[in-house]
Amino acid sequence: MNKEWSEKNKKMQSLIGKAATFRKGIDILIELREDLFQQITSIVNTYPPEAFYQMPFAKAEGYHSKTLAYSMWHIFRIEDIVVHTVIMRNSQILFTEDFLERTGSPIITTGNELKGDAIAAFSKQLDIKAVCEYCLAVKNSTEEMLKNLEYRDLKRKFTDEDKKRVAYSRSVSADEDAVWLIDYWCNKDIGGLIRMPFSRHWIMHTEAMCRIKNKLCQIARKGVDAIAYCGLSCNHCFLMEWCGSCRTKYNTCSYAVCCPEGVCPNAACCKERGIDGCYECEYLIDCQKGFYANGNGGDAAKALALFIRKYGKKELSAVMDNLHKKYDFQKIQEIIGHDREKGLVILEENR
Ligand code: SF4
Ligand code: SF4
Repeated sequence: MNKEWSEKNKKMQSLIGKAATFRKGIDILIELREDLFQQITSIVNTYPPEAFYQMPFAKAEGYHSKTLAYSMWHIFRIEDIVVHTVIMRNSQILFTEDFLERTGSPIITTGNELKGDAIAAFSKQLDIKAVCEYCLAVKNSTEEMLKNLEYRDLKRKFTDEDKKRVAYSRSVSADEDAVWLIDYWCNKDIGGLIRMPFSRHWIMHTEAMCRIKNKLCQIARKGVDAIAYCGLSCNHCFLMEWCGSCRTKYNTCSYAVCCPEGVCPNAACCKERGIDGCYECEYLIDCQKGFYANGNGGDAAKALALFIRKYGKKELSAVMDNLHKKYDFQKIQEIIGHDREKGLVILEENR
């Protein structure tokens, strides 16, 4: 489990267990959920539509055997049902603001009953932006409830009437892989529901989403030129686990992530000019676009581009191998500094 998330989760559990620290525990829970939600929205904002219905671990056991879209739907459907039908006995968020229509979902259940190809087919039908809006609406509504909870509410239990209400809502499939959820939720008290599904369930599925997206990036990069448009080497990049390269649709480098349309300015410019990379560009030395802007380690990247211009991409890869054998570093500027010409000399010395 992600160390930071796991520690926040443990801290939250211990704080909500005592009346004196209960409120602080709820604050930490909301903070943890915010961290996890940021991870989910960054995936939604940066991955291409087809990423959401791929199952790169289809044969595996575990949460990562699903799709990104399924994971989002499942986390927030469960939470919506638990908060509104089990605890608050009011209307689920899915049935407000046309969410059911907007998401395009053919089901109102949690999705536990779906198996194999049916998960991919279901995921393909979803409008991911609308699903993300639904997720946010559920998150906000749950947190509103959490903020109004008192320590004594943690011991509140549920009855057979509550179970009947959930079954009657048809939000849980009668399939044996799903129907157990009704007993599972209603046999807990509110304190138990805070652990599962309001915190741990999010962590498990968000981690699974990270595994799925990282695998999709690795698959996308297979057979693709490993030299980025700016001159960096993807095979030696500290982000390579989660970036699918600027030469694929899975471009999630830091520049692509924060640029409109999710495209790095250097990659966009090279494509517009019809060149293989900035190393072929006549404006390289003075260029201030994207990664080449002052103060971004851009001069180190330019040194790489200049090196490619002189010796070629293969030679750069060999130099990068040599440098990684010699030194322990993440970013190339840690080794070649921020001076383009001096950087080029260091690269040449390591041929
Ligand atoms: S951040 Fe750039 S160099 Fe790193 S893997 Fe992505 S495209 Fe390649
Ligand atoms: S102008 Fe700058 S970003 Fe565009 S191709 Fe040339 S060096 Fe690259």
